[in-house]
Amino acid sequence: MRILVVEDEKKTASFIRKALQTEGFAVDACGNGEDALAAAGTTPFDVIVLDIMLPGRDGLSVLRLLRELGSKIPVLLLSARGEVNERVEGLNAGADDYLPKPFELAELVARVRALTRRSGETKSTLLRVADLTLDTLTHKAQRGTSTIELTAREYRLLEHLMRSPGRLCGRMMILEKVWDYDFDPGTNLVDVYVRRLREKIDADFEPKLLHTVRGAGYMLKETP
Ligand code: CA
Repeated sequence: MRILVVEDEKKTASFIRKALQTEGFAVDACGNGEDALAAAGTTPFDVIVLDIMLPGRDGLSVLRLLRELGSKIPVLLLSARGEVNERVEGLNAGADDYLPKPFELAELVARVRALTRRSGETKSTLLRVADLTLDTLTHKAQRGTSTIELTAREYRLLEHLMRSPGRLCGRMMILEKVWDYDFDPGTNLVDVYVRRLREKIDADFEPKLLHTVRGAGYMLKETP
């Protein structure tokens, strides 16, 4: 279990880190929102403890951006003020729990533990077609035992295809689901990305999984 603690007050951050480490968690810490986003983008944390008051980009803004990027990492928000408005705002922004300062470390640990249990439950969302797997929580893709590196857009495309195996995925539907377009931009965007994805998931493997349905779109399935 790996926790990210985002808090600029060094003393508080250090207390939280020690308390969580004592309970057996691995803890990374950073002191501002930009570093938090960078860390969350590269490491699959089980929980983020996120202070609202941060220099530069504040905790609520970090949280909103994480959710916009599709991250489902459980977030425990910390707030110095503990006002009702802020609590509501935090929960609306996608926080899973909220703890006003000052708090007891034992309570913080208990809440983090509760969130890691929830994170463990959502972790089982593994999509599978033949030996191709995609973890929708960590965004990790594998073909057999080989890890496949995907960009954010390639991930969304593969997730869309893997959610309807054996079914036709039309170009327009792909533009809508993967690019949020509700119009046809009249480019070969989808075909270009499918080609890139095919290079990654099919080129070095058998059987081929990503099939072209001529004139209509694409289909992910085990047999042609
Ligand atoms: Ca702070």
